[in-house]
Amino acid sequence: MLVNFQFCLMKHIVIVGGGFAGLNVAKELGNRKEIKVTLIDKNNFHLFQPLLYQVAMAALNAGEIAYPLRMMLSKYKNVTVFKGVVKTVDPYNKIVYTDFGEIEYDSLVMTCGAKHHYFGHNEWEEFAPGLKTIAQAAEIRRRVMEAYENAERSQDPEEKRKLLTFVIVGGGPTGVELAGSIGEMNRYYLSKYFKNIDPKEIRIFIAQSAPALLHTFSSELSAKATLALEKLGVQILTCCKVTNIDANGVEIGHERIEAGTVLWAAGVRATSIGKTIGFSTDQSGRIIVAEDLSVPGYPDVFVGGDQACFALQDGGTLPGLASVALQEGQSIGRNILLDLQGKRRKPFVYNDKGQMATIGKNSAIAERGNVKLSGLPAWIIWLGVHIYYLSSVKHRLFVLMQWGWSYFTFGHGARIVNKEWRFYPNLPEPAEPAEKEELIADNACVLDSSDLALKGNLDNSEKSF
Ligand SMILES: Cc1cc2nc3c(=O)[nH]c(=O)nc-3n(C[C@H](O)[C@H](O)[C@H](O)COP(=O)(O)OP(=O)(O)OC[C@H]3O[C@@H](n4cnc5c(N)ncnc54)[C@H](O)[C@@H]3O)c2cc1C
Repeated sequence: MLVNFQFCLMKHIVIVGGGFAGLNVAKELGNRKEIKVTLIDKNNFHLFQPLLYQVAMAALNAGEIAYPLRMMLSKYKNVTVFKGVVKTVDPYNKIVYTDFGEIEYDSLVMTCGAKHHYFGHNEWEEFAPGLKTIAQAAEIRRRVMEAYENAERSQDPEEKRKLLTFVIVGGGPTGVELAGSIGEMNRYYLSKYFKNIDPKEIRIFIAQSAPALLHTFSSELSAKATLALEKLGVQILTCCKVTNIDANGVEIGHERIEAGTVLWAAGVRATSIGKTIGFSTDQSGRIIVAEDLSVPGYPDVFVGGDQACFALQDGGTLPGLASVALQEGQSIGRNILLDLQGKRRKPFVYNDKGQMATIGKNSAIAERGNVKLSGLPAWIIWLGVHIYYLSSVKHRLFVLMQWGWSYFTFGHGARIVNKEWRFYPNLPEPAEPAEKEELIADNACVLDSSDLALKGNLDNSEKSF
């Protein structure tokens, strides 16, 4: 079925993905009379992934870092948002194939982002969820909280030791943030609320194959981050390649760590859609793009963000960062406008604003050129930048209030344990009415209002666990 849009003489630009890249293409093209823009995303919201670990660690609620795309783009009269999954693209006939039909385009922008990569061991995902979606953050939160709850009542020392062991695979910014947050939780939360858990019993490991944490930072800052994590009780295993993950822990060569919770922060790969179209990709599945971010040989197809492989003059490529995606999105939008004016496109030039990683309260590292900061100054900058890039004033205020409250009370937000939602008729039919009531209560999902707002999306598209 061809989804028919009557655009008269207007050019139709289709954007796939409403992340940092796609959203900024849409904003650049917004309210231009000569074009009609259709943005398709499998979710109806934009997700601020850099703060996703805070949802996983119960510091923020999902609704504070996810915003309905429709609301974000409502002021642009020429932009329409469709919730749907793009399956593939026919670049010769200029057709996008979606799960709700086919859409013709004049120019296509692909910004589908990345997904987790288990290096050929997809079976590990069940035991070690990655952190890329709200559903995954909720699942990580559930696993961590469940581990504490089970350890609190366990009488078996071996089982308790396992439950109180957390392994994070991967020592990049996400692995460091997760490990630091669990370390802080132990320090500020467990001793206060759990009477049968001694925080000293808790073991947190970061296992990574590289010789140092945060290898994209200078060795000086990497060492400072390592020290800060060790102060929070995190043990860092470097040059350690994880060889197996199962329901009871991880194996590193001949060594085994029994662990109740294993989290994956080791590798990402671009979404596979590029391969289905037949475009050239790099080893990580990213589509190789020209200097104007178009696909070589297909001037009407642009790719941006984590899905694009943009070569630098020094032989490297741009990393998967929000700032790269945001700037690439802006550049693609401007080049589409230049096309319409019959002017020459401009090559994309990345303005490197540096990199940051946070470890915990008052503790972060930040680097820009020769400027290297750590501790409180870096943490204040980290806070400022993240608040600034949140998408609305309301969300900035909400997050600031949550952080302020947590900072001064040493408390965290929603530490409730969610159960997986199950559709009631699928449950076994209980014999007695009294039992039926218990069964409903037992399987009810405890959600706060922001989780409820997003629940429809989780159930439909993201529930992979
Ligand atoms: C936990 C975590 C922490 C991070 N921390 C930082 C940080 O501190 N600083 C930093 O700079 N970067 C950070 N990043 C990286 C940053 O978030 C990404 O580089 C950025 O989100 C990439 O933007 P994008 O637009 O390319 O993709 P995304 O933001 O991933 O958006 C892709 C969009 O495409 C949609 N989509 C995908 N496939 C389809 C399809 N087939 N059909 C329809 N829609 C589709 C998705 O639903 C999504 O909305 C972090 C990432 C993660 C996961």
